[in-house]
Amino acid sequence: MIRTVGFIGLGNMGGPMAHNLVKAGFAVQGFDTVPAAREQAAAHGIVLTDTAAAVAQGADVVVTMLPSGPIMLSVWGEVVPAMAKGALIVDCSTVDIDSCRKAHGLAAEAGLMSLDAPVSGGVGGAAAGTLTFMAGGAAPAFDRALPILQAMGKNLTHCGDDGAGQAAKICNNMILGISMIAVSEAFGLADKLGLSRQAMFDVASKSSGQCWSLTTYCPVPGPVPTSPANNGYKPGFAAALMLKDLKLSQDAAGGSGANTPLGAAATALYDQMAQAGEGGRDFSAIFEMLAGGKA
Ligand code: NAD
Repeated sequence: MIRTVGFIGLGNMGGPMAHNLVKAGFAVQGFDTVPAAREQAAAHGIVLTDTAAAVAQGADVVVTMLPSGPIMLSVWGEVVPAMAKGALIVDCSTVDIDSCRKAHGLAAEAGLMSLDAPVSGGVGGAAAGTLTFMAGGAAPAFDRALPILQAMGKNLTHCGDDGAGQAAKICNNMILGISMIAVSEAFGLADKLGLSRQAMFDVASKSSGQCWSLTTYCPVPGPVPTSPANNGYKPGFAAALMLKDLKLSQDAAGGSGANTPLGAAATALYDQMAQAGEGGRDFSAIFEMLAGGKA
């Protein structure tokens, strides 16, 4: 039975995820390097430690939610040796496949169970406890993690062995990056052809152009009132994070020999957006960059 959970990385995602573990009745001890994240976590019932390694003390499971693969690996390097044999460590960050496999290797050497379990659903899903988890690792590790994953998320898929969760995340977000550009280009072309945005939406949302980027997250204001385009492109999901995930897809494609020309083009376009100082806007603001003006 899982009683005590260690949580490292109490940021925009990790903070509310750890809070949901507290609400579900787990004793949560956490660590973050940033004072503001620590203060907010303490206010939500998380007991703070002074080091990453200290969260391992008495923890049945340790969860990490960190910005990148190299940071995750260095944190695992500290915390894994401090964990009790047979305990479970779960990384929920979005990281490169190589770092992910190295992390599983560290855990295996130390006699720990391990899981890569990246998420989708953003900060809203993290706060509501409705994240989608895509997990990679041995079946017993997934089974063991279920009670905590259920406290933080809704759709839980065991995708396969070590790294399969990150692979699923990277492939999904490559679709998302490409499809947002496709939908933005279509609205740009519709504008030039004198087709109203609502008519374009009404047809494409019921036709073969239908996709999430159009019907849930429409990049122009109007047709989907809840999409960031109606809110000055406040994220949501920042373009810088989309660029991070697309770069991971291109590293993975290079390493595996997969042919992803549209993934490469999408990466270049989001890079251009970031270079223009727009990385903090929602990724659907790529519409304005492509259209060359305000939506
Ligand atoms: P964030 O920057 O808000 O949080 C990361 C936290 O890690 C920060 O609080 C930071 O202080 C802490 N941290 C950094 N180095 C540390 C260290 N060495 N030890 C302890 N703490 C450390 O980022 P986020 O938005 O919470 O994203 C976390 C991960 O989740 C990323 O990998 C991101 O790609 C992924 N993700 C984010 C979203 C989203 O919408 N924000 C959605 C899905 C997945």
